[in-house]
Formats: sequence, structure tokens, C-alpha cells
Amino acid sequence: MINIVIAGPRGNMGKEAVKMVTKESEFQLRAVVDQEFDGYKMKDVDGMEPLDLPVYVDMAECFQQVECDVLIDLTAPEAGKKHMRIAFDYGVRPVVGTTGFTDDDIEELSAIAEEKAIGAIIAPNFAIGAILLMKFSQMAAKYMTDVEIIEQHHDRKLDAPSGTAVKTAQMIAEVREAKIQGHPEEAEQLEGARGADYEGMRIHSVRLPGLVAHQEVLFGGEGQTLKLRHDSLNRTSFMPGVKLACETVMNLSVLVYGLDQIIE
Ligand code: NAP
Repeated sequence: MINIVIAGPRGNMGKEAVKMVTKESEFQLRAVVDQEFDGYKMKDVDGMEPLDLPVYVDMAECFQQVECDVLIDLTAPEAGKKHMRIAFDYGVRPVVGTTGFTDDDIEELSAIAEEKAIGAIIAPNFAIGAILLMKFSQMAAKYMTDVEIIEQHHDRKLDAPSGTAVKTAQMIAEVREAKIQGHPEEAEQLEGARGADYEGMRIHSVRLPGLVAHQEVLFGGEGQTLKLRHDSLNRTSFMPGVKLACETVMNLSVLVYGLDQIIE
């Protein structure tokens, strides 16, 4: 039995995670951490599942009072980092879907995990199809080195480009030399028209209501193009990945960044 606390239980992802955890017989949800409603029961809060479980605002207090093996964090970047540090202090393994962490953040959190020998997983994308898209993109980039990434998300997303787009670019960069793409003398008539630049790859972020999480990776070559696309149509698409991460993190003693590292 894995004891779990979820941070962000009123959010779109958090709600799905509560449903998934309560459905799985090997998981036991013990409490949730919210920004409000300290001392309430989940069942008494609008927007939470009707469960007889405590709501905490102070995560340290939660870990002092509740047995917890794994923290699932689905909040916002600053909160996610803070929550991870508290989890490490209490020997709790974080499984983090919150996006927007910088390379420096990951490095710092990896160092803490290593020093304390506590497993952790940060996964910018829990959708298994999206992980396959990244892996296929890396495979294609060996042979087709001109690449543009277009990611599309709902308009409440805080960070751009998406963690998945950055991770895709990083994975492609592992097999492809940095190169300038497009015309060497191209000039933007409107700032940002060519998107963000990652080692010469361009990343474009679309934000619109109605979207969930979508990504295309476009490859161009002599007389041919290749388009790889993944769509998360709703947030249940992320839950098999969250479940897998909760199971896997129990056997880790370091921080793993990206679900691609645990899906062979
Ligand atoms: P959302 O609907 O805005 O939910 C975020 C929730 O976190 C809100 O309920 C918010 O509370 C809460 N929160 C913010 N700061 C908090 C804090 N300090 N303590 C406790 N709760 C806090 O966002 P979402 O769509 O669920 O996404 C959540 C995160 O997951 C984002 O970073 C998003 O980019 C990421 N995400 C990851 C994946 C993946 O596969 N890894 C997929 C989708 C989204 P309030 O309502 O009070 O503000």
C-alpha cells in the first residue's frame, strides 16, 4: 500500500489525480494540500471530491500528522519547488507534474534528492503518447535535422514554452548538432514571429481556450516533410503516467526528470 498526499486538489489535474488515487487498490489517499480551507474535510469544500479526508495549507504540518510515502504535486512552479523541498525534509518521495522548473531548479532538487537518497520524479508530461512522440522525434532528428515544434495549450497555462516542448528540444539536441535554421539573414517584422530559439530549433506556443495539451513536431528535408503529432484530449490522459510514476518512485533513490527515463 502506498500512502499518498496530493497538492492542488481543486485544480484540473489535481481533481483527476484524486479520482485515480482513490480508485487504485494499491494507493491510499491520506490528505490534500490546498492554498485555502485549512482544517476542512475534503467533502466540505466545493470543487473537491466528497471524501472524509483532511485538507492542510501547511505541508510540513500535513507530513507531521499524516503517514505519507508519495507526494503528488500538481500546482504552480514556485509552490511545486517549495513542496518538493518540504517533502525531502520529511523523507516523502515527490511525484511532480507541475511544469515551469528551470534547469537550475532541477539541478538543485536533484542534489537534495541525491544527498538524502530519496527518490523523486518530475515529469513535464505524464501522457504516455506524448513520451512516445518525444522518443520518435529524437529518432527522426538523426536523419531530418531541420525541426520546428508547435505546442498548443489552454489559455490558463502559466509557462511558455511548455515543459514538454523544451524536453522534446533537449532530447532532439542530444542527437543533432546545433544549427541555424531558416534563411541566415531572416528578420522578424514582428518580434517573436519565428518563436523561441533552442539551439536553432524554433518553438511556437499557442494559447487558446478549448485546447488541452497538443504538440506537433515538424521535420523538413529535401522534397519532403514529416509531421508527428500528439493530442491530450482530456486530463485523464495523464493519469496512467501519474500511476506509473507513483509506483516507480518507491524504488528510486535519486531524482528522475521525465517519464521517458522510466518508459523503455
Ligand atoms: P490549475 O487547474 O490551475 O490547478 C492548479 C491548482 O494548484 C489550483 O487549484 C491552485 O489553487 C493550486 N495551487 C497553486 N499554488 C498552490 C499552493 N501554494 N499550494 C497548494 N495549491 C496550490 O492547473 P492544472 O491544469 O491542474 O495544472 C497544474 C500544473 O500541472 C501546472 O503546472 C501545469 O502546467 C501542470 N500540468 C502538467 C501535466 C503533466 O502531464 N505533467 C499536464 C497538465 C498540466 P488555486 O485554485 O487556489 O489557485
